[in-house]
Amino acid sequence: MTSVTTAARPLPAAVRDDFPFFAPGAPGAALSYLDNAATTQKPRRMLEAMADYYTNANSNIGRGYYRLAMASTDRFEQARETVRRTIGAAEPEEIVFTAGTTAATNLLAATLGERRVGAGDKVLVTGLEHNSNLLPWKELCDRTGAELTVAAADEQGRVTPAAFAASLDDRVRLAAVAHVSNVLGTVNPVREFAAAAHARGVPLVVDGAQAVPHGRVDVRALGADFYCFSGHKVYGPMGVGVLYGRRELLSQLPPYQVGGGTVKGVRLDEPVRYVPGPARWEAGTPHVAGAVGLAAALDYLGDLGWDAVRGHGAALVRAAADALAGLDRVRIVGDPVSEPSGIVSIVVDGIHPYDVGAHLDASGVAVRCGVHCASVFLDALGLLGTVRLSFGVYNTEADVERVRAALATVKPATWTAEHPGTRFL
Ligand code: PMP
Repeated sequence: MTSVTTAARPLPAAVRDDFPFFAPGAPGAALSYLDNAATTQKPRRMLEAMADYYTNANSNIGRGYYRLAMASTDRFEQARETVRRTIGAAEPEEIVFTAGTTAATNLLAATLGERRVGAGDKVLVTGLEHNSNLLPWKELCDRTGAELTVAAADEQGRVTPAAFAASLDDRVRLAAVAHVSNVLGTVNPVREFAAAAHARGVPLVVDGAQAVPHGRVDVRALGADFYCFSGHKVYGPMGVGVLYGRRELLSQLPPYQVGGGTVKGVRLDEPVRYVPGPARWEAGTPHVAGAVGLAAALDYLGDLGWDAVRGHGAALVRAAADALAGLDRVRIVGDPVSEPSGIVSIVVDGIHPYDVGAHLDASGVAVRCGVHCASVFLDALGLLGTVRLSFGVYNTEADVERVRAALATVKPATWTAEHPGTRFL
């Protein structure tokens, strides 16, 4: 990730007004919403873009020879171009719309994975992966007789370039790594990982679900061969996401799901010839309004200023670290401050994370607590779970102060007393 620009132009104070969720009388009006790593609230501009699509352009894409269908297709392709421009891909053909990050990693495991990985080979992941970038690779390995190998995180939750390089051997055929940990906000040094992987001819898949919301990502500068992210975590809609693939590699992948839109014509007495380009992996009717909404959300962030977005998240992470440092029993897990990415995970000694979550909820703060779909990482950290504060563009230091005040009075409750070692989710 590019370094934090501390002198970034600040976000405009009125950002919150761009989000109907926080309007007077709306559910977010009195809420400190700090679960942005799970999903973000939606700016009016993105909601209006989706409504406008359905009101003024709705028709299926790519199949109708009438003006409305062509206009709909244009909007979808414009959204692809917006994604391309935002993440620095070379060509729009390198952008595949998926249902989200999970859909993208599964697509890759079933295509790239099946092509490259066989019995005796290895797939390399890091110790901090979300299940969505772990289970597709584990299943691939279990299916093919390959071995899943892990570049472990250190006690701060960091995977060093040396740990990654040490795990790369001649059997590794593919590496899949998170850009930013959804548990601790730790930033993996993806550029260094890419250089080490490429030196051995190993393609690198990057799960960018938690990176794109926090600042400009440039897939080519990172050296990612494949890069996945979800619309809903970046102020866009649920149900749409992106798979970027470098042309040389993407173009070699077979189709994943097959069906309408993936072929020009079919003869039953011949093998099927699938279209080149992104449509090959977008079988069926895609989430056109979702792509349009995602593009509007990315444009919205671009207009706020990506440096300002990054600076804002970093400032809130530092404010949270300062505010929580003085609290008894509260411990920050890992090191969210040296390269902040909008996430601070804490534990409160002697109090079950769910009791902390319930107390924060009663105090008007929404956070996620538990294992965050990353129980392998939590096990390695020796933790039952954490309480995760994750910031968005509309959060302020008032939210941090609310958390601090609530944590100052948190007490053990039902979970601590009755289910002290229980975890789920
Ligand atoms: N990877 C990471 C790092 C995530 O944080 C998440 C969402 N929590 C995912 C993948 C999965 O994203 P989605 O549920 O949108 O497919």
